[in-house]
Amino acid sequence: MANILRKEAFALPEGMIYLDGNSLGPMPKMMPDHLSQMLETEWGHLLIKGWNAAGWMEQPSRVGDMVGRLIGAPPQSVVMGDTLSIKVYQAVAAGLKLNPGRKVILSDTGNFPTDLYMVEGLINTLGQGYVLRTVAPEEVAGAITDEVAVVMLTQVDYRTGRMHDMNAITQSAHDKGAVMLWDLAHSAGAIPVDLAASQAEMAVGCTYKYLNGGPGAPAFIYVRPDLADRIEPALSGWLGHQAPFDFVLNYKPGAGIERMRVGTPPVMQMTALEAAMRLWEDVDMHDLRAASIALQEQFIAEVEARAPALTLASPRDPEARGSQVSFRFAQGYAAMQALIHLDVIGDFRAPDIMRFGFTPLYLDAADVSTAVDRIAKVMDEKLWDDPKYKTRNKVT
Ligand SMILES: *Cc1c(COP(=O)(O)O)cnc(C)c1O
Repeated sequence: MANILRKEAFALPEGMIYLDGNSLGPMPKMMPDHLSQMLETEWGHLLIKGWNAAGWMEQPSRVGDMVGRLIGAPPQSVVMGDTLSIKVYQAVAAGLKLNPGRKVILSDTGNFPTDLYMVEGLINTLGQGYVLRTVAPEEVAGAITDEVAVVMLTQVDYRTGRMHDMNAITQSAHDKGAVMLWDLAHSAGAIPVDLAASQAEMAVGCTYKYLNGGPGAPAFIYVRPDLADRIEPALSGWLGHQAPFDFVLNYKPGAGIERMRVGTPPVMQMTALEAAMRLWEDVDMHDLRAASIALQEQFIAEVEARAPALTLASPRDPEARGSQVSFRFAQGYAAMQALIHLDVIGDFRAPDIMRFGFTPLYLDAADVSTAVDRIAKVMDEKLWDDPKYKTRNKVT
């Protein structure tokens, strides 16, 4: 197995153990120089010529291909832009158009709330009797009936790391004639994904988590190549038009995945993401997965031995887990705050989940042991039982 550790490529504060790369990846070290150079030579010097001369206009597709390689998507089937919430809306709207006559969008109660909220908003806008049905994650396969237009699932549960079987569920959806949409927010850069093999119609995801694109980095959308020229974009913006610079008065969708673009891309964020994606060019996702599982197994064994008050909330079978481990503890919020005070960064998800992400590009076994030492200290010395750790911040 190739060594995939590249700690020196990331700006990690001395002494900090960062177990939150599943929420916001750290900054690649070259980023400040890279961005300041881009600002000077491109925005500063080229100004509007940058759209052509610096390739800003093609950047969403160029970066889309870099992301596509990690999720088993063929070239020119992924495009970047907007935020994940917007991409969910766009994908579900297109999925409903692929399946006229059916009114149910099926999801699960473990899904990240914004995905469900966006579907509610879409349904209200469409006003044609569409309904969102949510069932427990274990019940999804059985709930796919021939009323279901679109099955929308997040592959890896953001709270517990529990993972859906992508190929099996996609097959069940297709058996009933439903369109399959996967949210890969906690999959891209975390686990091997083979979208092409799954035959799913669409996928979306974000890039500021495992891919280290930086806060506010653009999202991605994938459409299966045989459908890309057929789907109807609900967000029919000019940069998804066949000929944006003809400035004609009516919308005509562009070729293939390009039609899923909406408006002007966030060039600075996209430039940061493109630079971050270069760190992935020689990463084999199967090597990364093996390293991730080793770190997670070590973490679970050491936490259970040394902090028995924490109970495992993630599946025990590593094959059923993404790249995070969660533990339940009634005072989880305060315990996480105390731990952050000791420079081990994880996060908290209501009601009682302490969440830790495992990112083998910049974490090794020694980091895991140090993190567990500090978790044991928080628990042994009841450091969580301090009022200063009990008031909740806006972002948890
Ligand atoms: C992180 C995450 C989001 C966030 O959406 P944004 O529009 O980028 O804020 C959405 N869905 C899932 C499943 C997520 O994990």
